[in-house]
Amino acid sequence: MSDQALSGKTGVVFGVANKRSIAWAIAKAWHKAGARLIFNYQGERLRENVEELISEFGADTQMFPCDVTNDAEIEAFFSRVKEVAPKLDLLLHSVAFAPKEALEGDFVSTTREAFRVAHDVSAYSLVALSRAAAEFMTDGGSILAMTYFGAVKVVPHYNVMGVAKASLEASARYLAADLGARKIRVNCISAGPVQTLAARGIAGFSAMLKHYEEHAPLKRSCSPDELGHTGVFLASDGAAAITGQVLYVDGGYEIMGM
Ligand code: NAP
Repeated sequence: MSDQALSGKTGVVFGVANKRSIAWAIAKAWHKAGARLIFNYQGERLRENVEELISEFGADTQMFPCDVTNDAEIEAFFSRVKEVAPKLDLLLHSVAFAPKEALEGDFVSTTREAFRVAHDVSAYSLVALSRAAAEFMTDGGSILAMTYFGAVKVVPHYNVMGVAKASLEASARYLAADLGARKIRVNCISAGPVQTLAARGIAGFSAMLKHYEEHAPLKRSCSPDELGHTGVFLASDGAAAITGQVLYVDGGYEIMGM
């Protein structure tokens, strides 16, 4: 893969909250590989944070507000993108949320509202964003979403987020089938545990990291930089025939039966 594998490409990045965000690691790698990026931020609370971070890419790097549960904000976001970029090539979906209490107790206690919110923010948003972005992917494109092993196996405390990630992964497959004829690929990276703001909301997260150090073939999870490299690969022509897949970047943990 060349250093400038994404040269000439434009991408939109959803999910930078701070410098520890996985979205930030992938954005840095995409930028280094030559892509021009446009960011979302969710409400005024995060505006300054994101503004300060993206200034690293040059003063002309743009960001627009977008809460992914709000159709009007998604429409407004992409109409502003259209004003500044003639076409889009890349979309990163690195967004998830579930009410804290749903990630603490047992899964059977999940309320209807927590189930709805988790799926709206973490899974349906991929469908809504892909539909909006695909309109501008006139020369093909690559859509990438972040997922976790809790989608396919039971991980203590991950609860409704695991069910939402299963929906995200299935959505990626259906989107890949729909959009393939337009040369738009849709893939997921299933990352091992990484210390981020969202991860801190999961009860027992430190124990999860330790578990990977003890049980993954590589005796560790993954680093944000490694997720960045994988993100560049999946966005590049090196992955031109790969779509609808979930690629595990987890120290090999996923292959273990015991
Ligand atoms: P993070 O930095 O907290 O990123 C999560 C992002 O989702 C934040 O920017 C958050 O913004 C955003 N978000 C939540 N609700 C939103 C909404 N309604 N509209 C727009 N944005 C919204 O944590 P992260 O760990 O990097 O998470 C990124 C992705 O990686 C998630 O899909 C997560 O499930 C996945 N992942 C994480 C790990 C891990 O161990 N960290 C492992 C595998 C997969 P606010 O802060 O404003 O809510």
